[in-house]
Amino acid sequence: MLRTMTFKEAVDRLLNKKICMKCYARNPPNATRCRRCGSHQLRPKAKEKRGGGK
Ligand SMILES: [Zn+2]
Repeated sequence: MLRTMTFKEAVDRLLNKKICMKCYARNPPNATRCRRCGSHQLRPKAKEKRGGGK
């Protein structure tokens, strides 16, 4: 099931992205600076987990 794997991988990547708070560019999860504007203000896009779930 390549499709499922690809989808899962895509979602995983999406959640692992870091978003620049200055220019909102997407950066790799291991980035320490924005590759677009060089800002250090990167914010992980992953949702914050809240205890309790559903
Ligand atoms: Zn930026």
